[in-house]
Amino acid sequence: MKKVTIEQISTLLAHPKRIVVVGHKNPDGDAIGSCLGLGFFLRERGHDVQVLMPNDFPEFLKWLPGCDTVITYDKNTAQVKKSISEAELIFTLDFNALNRTGDLAEVLEKVTASFVMIDHHQQPDDYAVVTYSDVSMSSTAQMVYHFIEAFDGLDEISPEIATNLYTGIMTDTGSFRFPATTAVTHRAIATLIEKGANNSEIHQNIYDTNSENRLKLLGVALNNLVLMPDYRTAYISISQEELDQNHFRKGDTEGFVNYALSIKNTVFAAIFIENRQENITKISFRSKGEFSVNEFARKHFNGGGHTNAAGGRGDQSMKETISEFIAILPDYKNALSDAT
Ligand code: 5GP
Ligand code: MN
Repeated sequence: MKKVTIEQISTLLAHPKRIVVVGHKNPDGDAIGSCLGLGFFLRERGHDVQVLMPNDFPEFLKWLPGCDTVITYDKNTAQVKKSISEAELIFTLDFNALNRTGDLAEVLEKVTASFVMIDHHQQPDDYAVVTYSDVSMSSTAQMVYHFIEAFDGLDEISPEIATNLYTGIMTDTGSFRFPATTAVTHRAIATLIEKGANNSEIHQNIYDTNSENRLKLLGVALNNLVLMPDYRTAYISISQEELDQNHFRKGDTEGFVNYALSIKNTVFAAIFIENRQENITKISFRSKGEFSVNEFARKHFNGGGHTNAAGGRGDQSMKETISEFIAILPDYKNALSDAT
């Protein structure tokens, strides 16, 4: 963390404050883990903290310490609005633009309280009085770890904080294998284990709690896999009907896109998931090496993220969205051929 950032935040936190901590829509392990971890730490430092999310998070995260204290805008709209209107300071974690909070953005855009952003996504918007942005970081949870470190709080890391931050780092690094995982990440992880994160149990809680429905849906997804070797690209699609037939629940498709990327020689993968309720096709992009799915998602599919992991959406039918995707690929033929 930069010295000036630490000083600015120090001033903001000099006296006990009413604080809300907000994550992005469809929160993942990093969003929930980083927000809960920071929430516990700020409470230990004497602040009054409420963690908010735009909407619900998947079942496989519902064991995280403190997750029962999270309130969601879609279910508890009035309560969330009240918390935000009473807040003196708002921490926004794991996203780089207010529109990543969906409908909650309208509320956040109107507040008078100051924002502090902690995030690792590329090209952050400029809405916060303090922006702690570092795109080289494995996860926002790792940034919260460095935040605590910068405020001399490592000794105050409780098992609850350790467990939340470990989970955020683990889920965003694909269990410590994506390129943003560094020696510094592993040192932070080692400390978190010392502070009470039960690593083996956390892995089991996240990865060994599959439902039969999810595995059957994975079967459908793999069956729908299309390989385009000329572009070193593979994609998967899942229709609303297929989701319904397999009793889809939030989080069930998490990680599916990685199977497409795991094919030998493939450097670019996508998954298209039909969402009739929102009338969109949700897309996840993944890549290996220097091919930037952040740029690709920004340019063509109203999205963004990181170099190797990004998301976006299509506003047409899934079939048309996929056709559009296929039509764009020739423009990237050289980049994909050269990617290492
Ligand atoms: P996922 O594909 O796992 O949903 O997301 C991959 C990464 O891209 C995450 O870091 C996520 O925050 C970001 N992301 C996902 N969907 C969107 C989107 O619609 N817009 C933007 N800007 N980022 C997204
Ligand atoms: Mn993240």
